[in-house]
Amino acid sequence: MPELPEVETIRSQLEPLLVGRAIVDTWLSPEMPALPAWPPDAAAFASLLVGRRIASVGRRGKYLLIPLDDGNTWIVHLRMTGALIHCREGLPEDRFLRAWFRLDDGSHLCYRDVRKLGRMWVVADAEQVVGKLGPEPLAGALSPEALRRSLAGRRAPVKALLLDQRLVAGLGNIYADEALHEAGISPLRPGGSIAPDEAERLCAAIGRVLQRAIGHGGTSFFAYLDARGERGRHQLHVGVYRRQGEPCPRCGTAVARVRVAGRSTHYCPGCQV
Ligand SMILES: [Zn+2]
Repeated sequence: MPELPEVETIRSQLEPLLVGRAIVDTWLSPEMPALPAWPPDAAAFASLLVGRRIASVGRRGKYLLIPLDDGNTWIVHLRMTGALIHCREGLPEDRFLRAWFRLDDGSHLCYRDVRKLGRMWVVADAEQVVGKLGPEPLAGALSPEALRRSLAGRRAPVKALLLDQRLVAGLGNIYADEALHEAGISPLRPGGSIAPDEAERLCAAIGRVLQRAIGHGGTSFFAYLDARGERGRHQLHVGVYRRQGEPCPRCGTAVARVRVAGRSTHYCPGCQV
């Protein structure tokens, strides 16, 4: 699933291509009727986009936020396998193409989605969709104190809590595992047992791990493609994620894989305590 670094990579690639452009036509596949989450009717959804000019391309957590010149915001969540790919010359032959948006320079923004779980909204107030998200880890909004406060008293494993988008926006399975490894904290620890110095280490580790992944254009173990249709490179640089049985890069202990809150979780039993 695209997490914060993947969505940020797509955002930064799309920004110079989309800002100032008008949407002149659109097509939504009838095979994916739930793609427009709001308004749910495909024709009504399209009518809110066609003729509008794109004011900017932003991001909140794993959501792309695209403000339009009429004050509405077009919001895209890629979920498991969604991808937004900018195509300069015509439309690709792609059986997983679920929607396209033609721009006034003749290019297309193509939406492909193998598992058909992605969602889009056009709303007057973006807070209706993203209002419940927790602090942004890269905008300085996530502080060690805020992190510790939201973990305090919680018995759930810290790994499971980091996946809760109301606590921290944008982390998913890959970067929660990587941040806990970087911070030297076991994913199995109850959230409430995290001490102030550990919250400080974890907060800093989350920021570093996400920044490094953005520097590598995101992680492509599975379906993730960026806005140019290319794979990310961060899978070549991970510490523990999907490296079970291989030596920990910090201490050499074999990386373990366990299930935490139903999610496969990778950690080093040697240096994560
Ligand atoms: Zn280790």
